[in-house]
Amino acid sequence: QSKARGNGNYTFFTPEMGKALLRQTRLASGLKSALARNEFTVVYQPLCDAKTGEVTSAEALIRWNHSKMGLIPPNEFIPIAEETRIIIPIGEWVLRSAVQEAKRWHDAGHMIIVAVNISCIQLEECHCYQKIQQILAETGLEPQFLELEITERVALSNPEEMIRILNNLRSIGIKIAIDDFGTGYSSLSYLKKYPVHTIKIDRSFIQDIAFEVRDRAMLKALLIMAKSLNFSTVAEGVETPEQFSILSDMGCNVVQGFLLSTPLSGEEFFNFITNRRMEEGQLLSSLG
Ligand code: C2E
Ligand code: MG
Ligand code: MG
Ligand code: MG
Repeated sequence: QSKARGNGNYTFFTPEMGKALLRQTRLASGLKSALARNEFTVVYQPLCDAKTGEVTSAEALIRWNHSKMGLIPPNEFIPIAEETRIIIPIGEWVLRSAVQEAKRWHDAGHMIIVAVNISCIQLEECHCYQKIQQILAETGLEPQFLELEITERVALSNPEEMIRILNNLRSIGIKIAIDDFGTGYSSLSYLKKYPVHTIKIDRSFIQDIAFEVRDRAMLKALLIMAKSLNFSTVAEGVETPEQFSILSDMGCNVVQGFLLSTPLSGEEFFNFITNRRMEEGQLLSSLG
């Protein structure tokens, strides 16, 4: 009977809590050596235009295969990596991998944007702007094909500095997306504070639109607001054709979700866009 909660209630330290803590400690120490052991990979999930079906971009998502504990979901280890600040080298590795991969698509004629999740811890770090520019320069990817997805899971020590960096990134053509929009981590105040290009509407707002009138009304209001403020809109977690057609009718710009594809390995993604381009070509030539 020890740990005080923020609301003033007391709670017992249970065996489950002990187990969870032990797991977190193991993950924190595992993260330190994971880069050197090559335990990370990056997968790519396609996003498509809600009107034309054309693949416009891909989101890079990290995967961690721990040598003893197996696959660990990012929702579990990213917060730990942020707390321990090891997210800085890990995030830089993801960014470099994703930008190099995107250059391969471009060299093959697929002018697709790569979207990379960036922790605010990374953005706050000094030299962050120079690092991103350097990665683009050494790879040869044009800045307008890079989009950075941000949320604020952790309290920032220097919010003004972050706004300055985001403005710099924006000024060279890099796009800024607000991820998980509408959740506690990404609210309206972000649109005021940051130089935003894209709003990614969280899956929780999409999930029930096919059968909940209120959810449809909320989505519609969000899309109208986004449009009048000139933001590009992405719907996350689109899983059914019904959801897709509602989103398309309401004028949402881009959709992402299992309906189109789950995240794919670099090679699978390359095949995906190549085959899709061929199908589109065949469709066009068969039409006339
Ligand atoms: P996110 O940025 O919102 O990424 C979308 C998540 O939704 C991904 O989970 C993706 O696999 C999942 N998803 C996509 N379509 C669907 C769908 O139709 N239905 C459902 N149920 N889920 C769908 P994932 O890969 O497990 O990543 C979880 C979160 O971890 C990400 O959420 C992001 O916040 C974070 N994350 C992933 N990779 C990175 C990274 O490289 N750096 C940082 N800082 N965070 C990352
Ligand atoms: Mg994201
Ligand atoms: Mg998201
Ligand atoms: Mg989300």
